[in-house]
Amino acid sequence: MIASGKHALVILDKGSVPFCYYENPHFHSRAEPQWMPAALLTRIVGYARKKQIALTFLLGKTRPPAQLERLIASHAKIVPPPLHEVYPDAVLVLDAEERSSFAALSRSLDRNVILRVSSPKGCSDLVESLIGKFRRLSLHLVGQEYFGAAELAAYERELSKISKKLAEQFRDGETLEFNVLTDRMMLTVMRNCGAGIDHLTIAPNGKSYICPGFYYDNEEDFVGVFDDKTGIAAGPVRGTELSRAPLCSRCDAFHCKRCIYLNRKTTLELNVPSEQQCAVSHVERKASRQLLTGLGSLEPFRRMPRIPELNYRDPLECIDAPPRDAGQRATDPSTDPML
Ligand code: SF4
Repeated sequence: MIASGKHALVILDKGSVPFCYYENPHFHSRAEPQWMPAALLTRIVGYARKKQIALTFLLGKTRPPAQLERLIASHAKIVPPPLHEVYPDAVLVLDAEERSSFAALSRSLDRNVILRVSSPKGCSDLVESLIGKFRRLSLHLVGQEYFGAAELAAYERELSKISKKLAEQFRDGETLEFNVLTDRMMLTVMRNCGAGIDHLTIAPNGKSYICPGFYYDNEEDFVGVFDDKTGIAAGPVRGTELSRAPLCSRCDAFHCKRCIYLNRKTTLELNVPSEQQCAVSHVERKASRQLLTGLGSLEPFRRMPRIPELNYRDPLECIDAPPRDAGQRATDPSTDPML
């Protein structure tokens, strides 16, 4: 089972907002919400309380009925814009397709925002339009598994522009976070998504999955069934651990999500990343290094360990190097690698 002190995602509505690299066709359909049954939700919430498992609920466009809402009241939530006013403290998921609505978002330096984009082109403008409206912004490049050299070059250019904007903010004393540039600066050990290792996802059908992407791609791809005695699922799911990932355990793109869903989708293995995932993470690592170097003696950046320059972009090239301490995980709680 998922041990005490860990966490689980709970899909409250089958039409919940996709917040990472996967898609959810039910979110975009006009179908009625398909809620998790209240009896099942009651058991899951009770179990989590007893075992000290933190729950994060995924919601769609519709506010839950009062009975469900009461059960999730004290838990973290991830929501799309239609529910942002209802749950202002929830993590807000924005899609680049809805960029015209970003201007209406109020100023806030506490908000935790996820921005999903399907192309790197123009993402610096999107990020700039959101500055002043978040404390932490997590960029998710949807479809990165299809990126070629042109998209990677565009991404590098966009990150360079975003770096300049962030540097201005930092020099003005702002403390915002932007996952793909600031996470690597703050990390000295791997802090990946952790799906299948320290968190699983429970779907409205009561079954548990490595992450929501596995549920939405194939409901039969579950790893356990919620049960009051055995808990949320058997786990960690074999093959998801860093120690079983020969490439990743030799890599120092510590911020990389090491996305198990993308691994399975692109290489059919849970522990083998695609070339694209590594290339994207190394573009980010390089941009993080350049930003950190450029910030020079500015506090607190001057105290952060320098990021070494690499002479490769694909970790496959260093497969002969000894693996890092695979059991080590970062302890800095300010970055939530899942987001
Ligand atoms: S960049 Fe590639 S090898 Fe490095 S952690 Fe990410 S997926 Fe693994």
